[in-house]
Amino acid sequence: MSAYNPVTPDDIRALVRIVGPAHVVWKDAEKLEACSHDETPDRRWAHMPEAVVRPRSADEIADVLKLANRRRIPVTPRGAGSGLSGSAVPLHGGIVLHLDRMNRILEVDRENMVVVVEPGVVTNEINEALRPAGLFYPGYPMSLESCHIGGNVAMNAGGAKAVKYGVTGRYVLGLDVVTPSGEVVQLGGKRVKDVTGYDLIQLMVGSEGTLGVFTRITLRLLPLPRASADLLCAFRSVAEAVRAVPRMMTRGAVIPAAIEFMDRDALRAAAEYLNEPPAAPDAEAVLLVTVEGASVEAVERDYDALGREVLAAGAIEVFVADNRATSERVWRLRRNVSEALSLLSRNQSNEDIVVPVAEIPRLVEGVQALSRKWGLFMPCFGHAGDGNMHVRIVMDPAWTMERWNTALPEVLKELYLLTAALGGTISGEHGIGHKRKAYVPLVLSEAHLNLMRAVKRALDPHNILNPGKKFDL
Ligand SMILES: Cc1cc2nc3c(=O)[nH]c(=O)nc-3n(C[C@H](O)[C@H](O)[C@H](O)COP(=O)(O)OP(=O)(O)OC[C@H]3O[C@@H](n4cnc5c(N)ncnc54)[C@H](O)[C@@H]3O)c2cc1C
Repeated sequence: MSAYNPVTPDDIRALVRIVGPAHVVWKDAEKLEACSHDETPDRRWAHMPEAVVRPRSADEIADVLKLANRRRIPVTPRGAGSGLSGSAVPLHGGIVLHLDRMNRILEVDRENMVVVVEPGVVTNEINEALRPAGLFYPGYPMSLESCHIGGNVAMNAGGAKAVKYGVTGRYVLGLDVVTPSGEVVQLGGKRVKDVTGYDLIQLMVGSEGTLGVFTRITLRLLPLPRASADLLCAFRSVAEAVRAVPRMMTRGAVIPAAIEFMDRDALRAAAEYLNEPPAAPDAEAVLLVTVEGASVEAVERDYDALGREVLAAGAIEVFVADNRATSERVWRLRRNVSEALSLLSRNQSNEDIVVPVAEIPRLVEGVQALSRKWGLFMPCFGHAGDGNMHVRIVMDPAWTMERWNTALPEVLKELYLLTAALGGTISGEHGIGHKRKAYVPLVLSEAHLNLMRAVKRALDPHNILNPGKKFDL
């Protein structure tokens, strides 16, 4: 028997009173289906909601949560649905709380170098609004043109520039949160320092919509870098490319803004998808390196130093893109790899493992060994500069679904154990959702899990907020 009650016509009437009739979806299969999945390619992770509600304010969200808590109806917050772990999927049905109408940039405070936004702002719009003020928000992920900042905070999203600037959580100074029982709390504010209470902001960051709903976010900003350049470094072997990653930072003494890795298969897939000729046809792997700084001279000094290190590490070619058009061309390839590989097959698993950066060469060797052992196509790409690799495990078209379904959990287990043995873990940025939940005990101890269970029970005693995600209660 389910621990939850179904959404009834009385509940719908109550929801309509809270958000208005235009913002409640019920019994419309097509519209409900749109909120049943995220961007995880395999639709087996999807689940239909019973209703979708689109609130406009924290007070409306509080009223929805009070109703759901009283009635024991599960509620799943949703941003843009670009997640890759099923975290926005309403696993137990109930209500999807779609935050797309809360999409205002409330304040650009230049003096305090912060921006205050609602959770449904598309992440890319933040930097567009900040440019005239000479400021920028560095925490954005590669999906910036579609994802929402609320989803980024809930996932602690990282992006290409995490090497130098860190991930989303580093920039969250203030967070207004509605708790699962419907209380509204303001955490932090515009202060850079604050040790007054427990750091509940960082508890909320990365909580995947399981601890509270964010309604207003205050982000710390940095001065917009005045100059930047990208290097496309081509290598004859994957081993040489990945070994160059730690070397650039240790011997070159420069922390690039980004160091992205693409193996030959990933690069080709992106070029074909974009209908472009291959960028480095002789390369087995490429590194895309971005340097940013306060002046053109500083950036030139840095890319000279990095260029020397990648050549010493075995690069066969280093192409410098120091204007917007050429930079955009190389970055377009990287931004489209994920989409290009997704088209190869519906039956694939998109993995997001992370290791200490010096272990990247051993990680990639291990993935190649797994690919040979299982006879599966496993292209690799990702944020090599911070140790975060995306590995696709693509079903061999000659396999039956039965063979794939039996093999995949074994392949995943071997991949995660390899990662853990190198001091890594099973997700660097895409999160756990319900897709990776079964594997969490491979990397977190029972004591660690019990602490997380205690936090969840304290904040959400009836387990109504995004139940079934991250770990089992
Ligand atoms: C092509 C592509 C590239 C990507 N690149 C990256 C990348 O570089 N780095 C990276 O980290 N991720 C990346 N992702 C994954 C995804 O874009 C991120 O996880 C993103 O942060 C999700 O944001 P969203 O608005 O789509 O959230 P959703 O997918 O809608 O939701 C994600 C989670 O956030 C919760 N949530 C959403 N809004 C709120 C809120 N206001 N309050 C509380 N909880 C909330 C949901 O319940 C869910 O658990 C990529 C995805 C794609 C498809």
